Amino acid sequence: MSETKLLGVIGYPLGHSLSPAFQQAALDALGIDARYERWETPPGALEERVAALRDPLCLGANVTVPYKERVIPLLDELDEVATQAGAVNTIVNRGGRLMGHNTDVDGFLRALREAGDFEPRGCIALVLGAGGAARAAVLALVRSGASLVYVANRTYHRVFRLVEDLRPLAARTRLVSLPLTYAALQGASVGWDLVVNCTTLGMPGTVDANKSPLPAELIPADCLVFDLVYRPDPTPLLRDAETRGARVLDGLPMLVYQGAESFRLWTGREAPIEVMFRAAREALTAAAAGGR
Ligand code: NAP
Repeated sequence: MSETKLLGVIGYPLGHSLSPAFQQAALDALGIDARYERWETPPGALEERVAALRDPLCLGANVTVPYKERVIPLLDELDEVATQAGAVNTIVNRGGRLMGHNTDVDGFLRALREAGDFEPRGCIALVLGAGGAARAAVLALVRSGASLVYVANRTYHRVFRLVEDLRPLAARTRLVSLPLTYAALQGASVGWDLVVNCTTLGMPGTVDANKSPLPAELIPADCLVFDLVYRPDPTPLLRDAETRGARVLDGLPMLVYQGAESFRLWTGREAPIEVMFRAAREALTAAAAGGR
């Protein structure tokens, strides 16, 4: 009789993660004998947690805030997308060797195209943030041939680094780094086709839950506003965007699509997308009812 395999999500804190709910639903729907756990990992315990993934019973893990970059030196190998992004959100245990992948890049593009009905080739975009999610979003836009991408962040040296790291890959895309200030954003408001929030502003259960990274008057009426933050009600940014007449896309489709690609890497099976969407929406509603 085979033993139950293990998977989990590594982050700190993990209160907001919906991955356990929708990954477990997908494993159960396909009859895969595996348990997806919540591995809340304080900074001092990261090395030990990652080393434990080499156990033969462990298929791998997801990695979330704040470890997507910090986990890299603990792995044996990275695929091309994770190397280019400089961030890992999925680890696969291949016979004791730990492989790092980044499925946020695919998840971002699939959500943009399928749920947002938006083709990024040739577009002008503004990306807000410079963490792991922003790296994935900017790389996705570069790989799909966006023409001009502004990237703005509160801590300027972080966004400068991000843009300098990705510039060698951006033959068809002009990349510009900005501080996240009103004057800089206004000076760069050249008619964005796409605005993407990759900051944590608007995240439920945080002190910034009621904040938006972009003043409402700078949102163009004819753009798509994509907020990577997921919550059951619209984020402050998406509420402002709707008021301005812009189209909106929330973070749930990306969450499910990145998870579906992780699922395929761990199990070799296509993920049951509809099962995942249903379980993610239910978990989101339940978390909101529980006050998170
Ligand atoms: P991260 O690496 O911790 O980066 C956080 C970003 O938010 C940084 O750019 C940070 O700026 C900015 N920020 C934090 N507090 C701020 C404030 N008060 N004012 C302005 N900027 C602030 O996190 P991440 O992994 O990139 O994730 C970012 C968000 O995307 C999270 O809400 C996460 O849940 C979401 N996400 C969603 C998906 C999805 O599938 N939908 C996937 C990945 C991530 P500084 O550099 O100045 O600190």
